[in-house]
This record gives sequence, C-alpha cells and structure tokens, in this order.
Amino acid sequence: MQLEADVCIVGGGVMGAATAYAISRIADKKIILLDRYGLGNEYCSSNDVNRVFRYSYGNDQYYTKMAIESLRLWKEIEKENGQELLIPAGLLMLEGEDEHANKFNESSFKTLTNLGLGAEVYEGPELKKRFPQFQAKVGFFDPHGGVLLASKSLETFSSQAGARGVRILEKHVTAFRGKSGLEIETSGGETIRAKKLVVTVGPWTGRFLRDGLTGVTSTRQQLIYLKPSRNIKRFTPTSCPVFFTDHHYGIPAVGIDGVKVSNKELTDPVDPETARRSVDQEQIEECRIACRRFVPGLADGEVVRTKVCLYDMTENSDFVIDRDLDNRDIVYGYGFSGHGFKFAPLIGKLLAGLALDREPSFDISRFSIRKSRRNPWMRGGQLGKGE
Ligand SMILES: Cc1cc2nc3c(=O)[nH]c(=O)nc-3n(C[C@H](O)[C@H](O)[C@H](O)COP(=O)(O)OP(=O)(O)OC[C@H]3O[C@@H](n4cnc5c(N)ncnc54)[C@H](O)[C@@H]3O)c2cc1C
Repeated sequence: MQLEADVCIVGGGVMGAATAYAISRIADKKIILLDRYGLGNEYCSSNDVNRVFRYSYGNDQYYTKMAIESLRLWKEIEKENGQELLIPAGLLMLEGEDEHANKFNESSFKTLTNLGLGAEVYEGPELKKRFPQFQAKVGFFDPHGGVLLASKSLETFSSQAGARGVRILEKHVTAFRGKSGLEIETSGGETIRAKKLVVTVGPWTGRFLRDGLTGVTSTRQQLIYLKPSRNIKRFTPTSCPVFFTDHHYGIPAVGIDGVKVSNKELTDPVDPETARRSVDQEQIEECRIACRRFVPGLADGEVVRTKVCLYDMTENSDFVIDRDLDNRDIVYGYGFSGHGFKFAPLIGKLLAGLALDREPSFDISRFSIRKSRRNPWMRGGQLGKGE
C-alpha cells in the first residue's frame, strides 16, 4: 500500500505528538505520525511519570518568556481536554556550595522579580518554617514551578491528534530525500510520499544530520524515585515544591508514591541504539547523599522506581527549531537538551507553523540549525542544565 500525506512527522515523542496535535487543530491536512517503537515507547525521552515546569531560567529572560507562553498553552490544553496535566507546586532553589548553581538560583530570582513575576526568598528560620522538609541557609522560590504529568501529556497530544484524523503508525524511518515532493523510506521497504516532513527523533537525530547542521549528543541520565519511610504527604505538591540543590533536582510525589531525584549534570555520552538502560548503584548513593544534605527525610527512602532516559544535547543547550538549509519542506525539531518538555505545546505550535509555511508566533532565530548563527555556550547565570 502506498502511503501519502500532506505532512509526515517522524518521531512520536512529545514534540512529534504536539506538532501533530497543533497542525490538526489549525489546518485540514492529511498527517501521518511515525514512530519506530510506537508512541509512548519505553526508549523515548518523553515517556516518564513527570517532568519539571519552571519559569526560572537564570538571567535568560527569553526562556522565561517562552515558559509564560507555554503555561498559557498548557492551560488551554487542559481546559480543552478536561485533563489536569500541570500540577502547581512552586520551585525551591536551595543555596549550597556550588557557585554556578547559586548564581543560577539568585539570577533566576532577580529575573523573575524584574519581570514582576513574584519570586520570593527565604532565609534561615523562615525557610525552615515555610518548607520544613528542607535544609539550607537560603532558598529562592519560583511560585510558577510545577510538575507536568509527562506520559499523560504525551497521551493527550496523541489521542487528540488521532481523534482529528492523524494516522499514527509504528514504522522505522531509515532515510528521506526530496526532489519533486519528499520520499520517506522505512525499514519495511515502504516509501511514503509527503509534501512536508517534520523530523522530531530526539536522541536519534544524529543519523539524519549532515555537515553544517547543528549537531547533537545523546547522554544517559538516571532517575531515582525515593519513597520516604514516613508521611509521604509531606512530599506531595500541596506541601512540597519541586527543588534544585547543588547538582540534583527533585520532583514531589505526583503520579507515583515516590519523589524523583536525579543528578542534573551527568555527561555520559552514549549511542542511543546501545545505551544501557539500567541505573548505577553509585547514582542511587549520590542521590541519597544530596538528600541527606538538603532533604534529610528522603535520604533513606525506599527506591520505588528507577529509569534511564537520554538527553539530546546541543553544544549550548539551545534547541533547534528550523527548516533544512537546502530544502524548506523539511523541518527539524531537536536538541531539547533535557529541558524541552515544559515547552512542548509551544514547540509543537512553532514546528506546525514552519510545516504550514506560517510566520512563527515567537522569534526562533536563536534556534537556528545553522551552526554559525547560534549563541556561544555560557555557564552559571544562564539556562541551567536539564530539567
Ligand atoms: C531524564 C530526563 C529528564 C528530563 N526532565 C525534564 C524536565 O524536568 N523538564 C523539561 O522541561 N524537560 C525535561 N526533559 C527533556 C524532555 O523530556 C525532552 O526534551 C523531550 O521529551 C524530548 O522529546 P522528543 O519528542 O524530542 O524526543 P523523544 O521523546 O525521545 O522522541 C523521539 C522519538 O523518535 C522515535 N524515533 C527515533 N528514530 C526514529 C526513526 N528513525 N524512525 C521513526 N521514529 C524514530 C523514537 O522511537 C522516539 O519515540 C528531560 C529529559 C530526560 C531524558
């Protein structure tokens, strides 16, 4: 059977699903969404219990503004689908010994304050009183932080896209080329014809990139869910925010009876085809050490779940949202560098706009695929790594 589409989207993680959702909302197009392992598979970076939402981006107002727009879109999706996807919790950034982390926390506070977004700072006994689970001299609070239900969000985007006629198929794309129209080849020997192609294959993007395009490195990240031995309620979002420590982040217990703790700075480059998908004992111990210092009630918690996920890192942690340099009918969305999930509805909308030849609603020149147009890498006040 010959498959044909106006738009073919390759990669059914959250970015591909959000793009299919966005196109199907605004245009009457024949859309095919392909994923080599099927949507919501265990290997993709989008399929986990939860993800961090935050406005805090150090001194980088650009991402804060993207987060503001994304929050509006998340609320729209929740309303449209009658689903709660983003649970408010706030984000508490705890001062520790790492000067870069401290700088990030403080500059996030200043940026939010300058933008009139109502950040708070707690010191000593005040911090203890407001957040008794935590231990630090100073804590900066971003009241807009929250927890995204990741798998549920992915499912919402894909089921809504499916309900509007998007065909979702399990197929492995091996190559694509564009002469008169685009031809997309699969491992099953099929050729799919499409007018537009959107490539959102996350950590697997490297195999489709040629010289001159911004590269991406896949890194292995390890997630640990700890269940405190007493009173898990103290660690749910009504009383416990998302938290950042020197080198780790934590997500209160939502969607699972466990607090997610993970090192946000692991740089373990891997081949996505062969990456080991089990967690190292050493990482569990490091999470416990971080908790002992900042969140003592969690340190001896039972490990109720572990997971390995891959980041798709660009050199400067900025995304790529752009057209192919030689073929404007090919659109790329990748390099979400461990912090893209919170922006998924906006990224889906931006990729949809490129595929439909519409003016982007946000300035995306920063996300150029052309290496020479990208910002240099910065440390400290900017971005933060991951989540
Ligand atoms: C451990 C971890 C923690 C994170 N925490 C946060 C957080 O707290 N907050 C936040 O905002 N972001 C976070 N992120 C980032 C966010 O989850 C990712 O940016 C986002 O999920 C990437 O989605 P994607 O659709 O680009 O990629 P993926 O979800 O990886 O999807 C890519 C899909 O492409 C498919 N595919 C690959 N090759 C092919 C092919 N040849 N043919 C067909 N299909 C193919 C794969 O099967 C896969 O399903 C985190 C990421 C990780 C890994």
